[in-house]
Amino acid sequence: MKKTKVAIIGSGPAGFTAATYAGRAMLEPVVLAGIKSGGQLMWTTDVENFPGFPEGVNGAQLMFQMRQQAERFGAHIQDVYATAVDLSQRPFKIWTGYPVGADPQRFDRLTTEELVNFMDEVKTQPHDIEAESVIIATGAAAQLLGIPGEEEFLGRGFSTCAVCDAAFYRDKSVYVIGGGDSAMEDTLALTKFAKEVTVIHRRGEFRASKIMQERVLNHPKVKVMWNTMVEEIMGDQKVTGIKINQDGKSQELSADGVFIAIGHVPATRIFQGQVEQDGHGYVVTRQSASALGVTAAQAATEDALVRFPTMTSVEGVFAAGDNVDVRYKQAITAAGQGCSAALDAERWLEAQGE
Ligand SMILES: Cc1cc2nc3c(=O)[nH]c(=O)nc-3n(C[C@H](O)[C@H](O)[C@H](O)COP(=O)(O)OP(=O)(O)OC[C@H]3O[C@@H](n4cnc5c(N)ncnc54)[C@H](O)[C@@H]3O)c2cc1C
Repeated sequence: MKKTKVAIIGSGPAGFTAATYAGRAMLEPVVLAGIKSGGQLMWTTDVENFPGFPEGVNGAQLMFQMRQQAERFGAHIQDVYATAVDLSQRPFKIWTGYPVGADPQRFDRLTTEELVNFMDEVKTQPHDIEAESVIIATGAAAQLLGIPGEEEFLGRGFSTCAVCDAAFYRDKSVYVIGGGDSAMEDTLALTKFAKEVTVIHRRGEFRASKIMQERVLNHPKVKVMWNTMVEEIMGDQKVTGIKINQDGKSQELSADGVFIAIGHVPATRIFQGQVEQDGHGYVVTRQSASALGVTAAQAATEDALVRFPTMTSVEGVFAAGDNVDVRYKQAITAAGQGCSAALDAERWLEAQGE
């Protein structure tokens, strides 16, 4: 069993930035990177909006360099998942084992019921890490439809991030799947570049705010296909089209790009019931952009300043990145929050006399 002052769970821009800061503060953080180190940017090719790379940078390369930078300052990175945690008292306990016969590749795909049984079984074994503080940086994943072609063409014409990828679709014909505010925002972002944007929605009306709907519906470049389901993303080396079903009839349409905006799922299920989360599973901190975050901040205000803004409902447990962020979900915002969480953890540990 390993003891540490800071355990960082997650290996995206938030986790590795937190690890670099905690390492430079001589805290010798333990980073549990999961078995897919690097996070969401491993799925993309060019990242053009991360500062410091005027020509853009390959997503996997950026994440590899962030990992190396954290290691340079003494972060102990383990390529395993945190499979269960006990945050009820300090030191916090973390398990990284699996029940006999369980497949590590399936860990992030377990149903909620399977996960509960899985964690109960894991906790019958001795814990693997004891930490004085924990930074949760497990990120989030865009919700997909579960149709053929999604995983195959992700990053090759099928995108979960219009803010990131819109500029690659100058004068192209693209589709946006969804009907909420994110789908409206993505559609409007794409109209700045694409020749034509078609929104595909499974219902007969959007559930986005009225103002966003109006902007989309009145935009000269936008068309809407109502009551339409997408059945397949099609292509060869990259996306060339989609198969849709409208009024019970299937047809194939050609497409240069397809964007999905039906929500994100934060990877926070192992913390459920242990730190406060909102109704969608986002961890609440004192800087969450939500009413719950405002309430938490008000309760933690001293001398007109919020104490430890990245702290969760549990003293000594901090959170950063897409598992907290209901609003921006960008690599640079995740990295920024990772920095804040590490500085908060360092100052909080100091205040405890650690
Ligand atoms: C295709 C695509 C393209 C994108 N392009 C851009 C772009 O160009 N510019 C930009 O700014 N943003 C882009 N984004 C968004 C950006 O990738 C995210 O905002 C950012 O990665 C969030 O960082 P994070 O550290 O919060 O989490 P993530 O990147 O989600 O990383 C979290 C990591 O933690 C791991 N993890 C989860 N649970 C556990 C556990 N229990 N134990 C251990 N590890 C765990 C996960 O496996 C993952 O590796 C893109 C996203 C996608 C999907």
